[in-house]
Amino acid sequence: MEFPWSPRFSRFELVLLTDERSRTVVRAGNVTIGDSEFVVMAGPCAVESEWQVRATAEAVAAAGARVLRGGAFKPRTSPYSFQGLGEEGLKILRRAADSTGLAVVTEVMCPEDVALVSEYAEILQVGSRSMENFALLEAVGRSSRPVLLKRGMTAILEEFLQSAEVVLRNGNPDVILCERGIRTFDAVTRNTLDVAAVPVLKSVSHLPVIVDPSHAAGARALVLPLARAATVAGADGLLVEVHPAPETALSDGVQSLTFAEFRNLMTDLQPYVALAADMREPELIAAGKVV
Ligand code: PEP
Ligand code: MN
Repeated sequence: MEFPWSPRFSRFELVLLTDERSRTVVRAGNVTIGDSEFVVMAGPCAVESEWQVRATAEAVAAAGARVLRGGAFKPRTSPYSFQGLGEEGLKILRRAADSTGLAVVTEVMCPEDVALVSEYAEILQVGSRSMENFALLEAVGRSSRPVLLKRGMTAILEEFLQSAEVVLRNGNPDVILCERGIRTFDAVTRNTLDVAAVPVLKSVSHLPVIVDPSHAAGARALVLPLARAATVAGADGLLVEVHPAPETALSDGVQSLTFAEFRNLMTDLQPYVALAADMREPELIAAGKVV
């Protein structure tokens, strides 16, 4: 189907949805992203301790999450903020995931760390601040691990897909696009969730699209309404920050959900997930032709 925005993406090759291509379904451990299941990835912003990650993994798995998130290498805006536990953090994630049946997604910040992070994680996260780190995109492109690519906070959608194209061109077909909010003029929210990015990306690309309402919101109270919006807009899943005691978190506590809030979110979303499954075809959502 042609949309007013379609010509903007016409010079792309590998990421484009064409009549000949089916949609990409990414497999990570025993989870598939981009298929019929709505996949929720959840966990702390940063790995802080064995107990913190273990408790979170158990809570989010029991609530229905399929992937454990958590940063071991943290790209902090301030050099004085907690930078992460590094390889020890990766080990903590792996142990917690293995004992709960979850897959792991965690950030890799530089090409030199791709092999190390790949030893511990099923999915390599490229963060917003790294979306245009082309050496890193090439390195994850040469890896056999799926890549969760976050939209740069000031990146237009063409630039976002350009970065995904770099990963595919380097041989890795398994990219999950993640909308996590963009910088706008409003300071009430940390970022502005670009809900339209979901149907636009799904209409032009065959790659799965997920939404991170936590970094978009920057406030715990907004995570649920943004998650609902993302679900009905046609996202294939969510990436949500959860912490056992958000007020003590070393990073992003204000936007992290408690276990009880996460359980509530998972229950609350069920009718929205069912509604989105009925609508199914993103082209129809984009065209407003929903049942
Ligand atoms: C994260 O998900 O841990 C993170 C740092 O998010 P972003 O790259 O979107 O800022
Ligand atoms: Mn965070």
